[in-house]
Amino acid sequence: MNAKIVVIKGDGIGPETVSEAMRALAVIGKRFGHTFHLQEYEAGGCAIDHSGSCLPDDTLAACLVADCVLFGAVGGPKWDSLPQHLVPERALLTMRDKMGLYANLRPIKMFPQLYHASPLLPQVAAQGIDLMLVRELTGGIYFGSHDIVLRGGQSVASDLMSYSESEIERIARTAFEMAKKRHGRVVSVDKSDVLSCSRLWKEVVHRIARDEYPSIQLTDMLADSIAMQLMRNPWQFDVVLTENMLGDVLSGEACMLTGSIGMIPSASLGDGTVGIYEPIHGSAPDIADQNIANPIGAILSIAMMLRSSFGLLSEAEAIETGVNRVLDDGYRTVDIMSAGCVPVSCSKMGELIAGAILSSQMYRKIARTLPQPSVQGSKKSKKAADFF
Ligand code: NAD
Repeated sequence: MNAKIVVIKGDGIGPETVSEAMRALAVIGKRFGHTFHLQEYEAGGCAIDHSGSCLPDDTLAACLVADCVLFGAVGGPKWDSLPQHLVPERALLTMRDKMGLYANLRPIKMFPQLYHASPLLPQVAAQGIDLMLVRELTGGIYFGSHDIVLRGGQSVASDLMSYSESEIERIARTAFEMAKKRHGRVVSVDKSDVLSCSRLWKEVVHRIARDEYPSIQLTDMLADSIAMQLMRNPWQFDVVLTENMLGDVLSGEACMLTGSIGMIPSASLGDGTVGIYEPIHGSAPDIADQNIANPIGAILSIAMMLRSSFGLLSEAEAIETGVNRVLDDGYRTVDIMSAGCVPVSCSKMGELIAGAILSSQMYRKIARTLPQPSVQGSKKSKKAADFF
């Protein structure tokens, strides 16, 4: 394996968590004999500061010829007052669009060691969470026209949401294919009680299911209903299919149920193997530059990359096994901390996971420098492969 990977760390905690993901990738290369050529480029607020553009031409050009992209997070209060078309977050939207990455996969899975960190009732959390959120990424309201005009002496804002049949067809197929590999169930989310886009969405999703995936069990659920069901019984979901904005909002809720937004990875994919891999968290300006962010979502994004873009299954599993071992042994960043566990920084968490990936000997050497947890993870993991 000889892969060309563009790395965009971005703003806030992006550089901190992506550095730990790069550390994990480096040890995978060392252990399995792969060469990963990493090239760093800028996007987001830091790029605005240095070049005036949130997505400089050389960054986009590099992404368009890379085997895949590792992305951190962009944005922050410093750039919030810029006109909408210039804000850092536009970088990611443009990259997804230009790279043709229309499907965002977010595995929302609760590690059993972290039941206590979930805001769910203990009896609900104990059932676990294991769903794949498939979110449409390059259509809908985020890509429509956005206007604020003066009308009748006051400002009036509008955002256009539109979806074509072909945009819905391809994301529906992604969700059904995913369900074939999992438990064969898809819940399609809409607001068909009020939105035309949702009516078309529902009609097209059902047509694809009927004509191409008759063995998949398809259920419709209104967005407000699934928001409640996620709190009540998240275990019922297998694959959840949503349009762009609803997916954004629902994944924020769903990931928090697993304990922390810092735990969840994601992949943005199109028709080929190229993808953008990123933790789903934002730039978290409130904890930036303190070395306390949770890097696990970024590290698990590398596992998704190895599996989806490069077909390196053992390598991906080695990362997941490493994460499990560190959680099993009771090491925690502050966002998932609980009694009896040992608090570690962002970089120490990355170091422990990299050590666990490389060898038991290396892991024990790093762990010996830390205090010993008095209570190990409340509930130990099963096999790493059970997680993704
Ligand atoms: P956020 O995800 O940055 O933070 C939400 C909360 O979760 C904060 O309290 C933060 O401290 C915490 N948190 C986030 N990641 C964490 C981690 N790895 N470990 C521990 N705690 C973590 O969302 P936000 O506050 O709504 O947004 C902040 C900025 O990030 C905004 O400018 C927003 O536009 C941007 N953003 C960027 C992306 C992206 O680049 N993909 C995604 C979401 C938000």
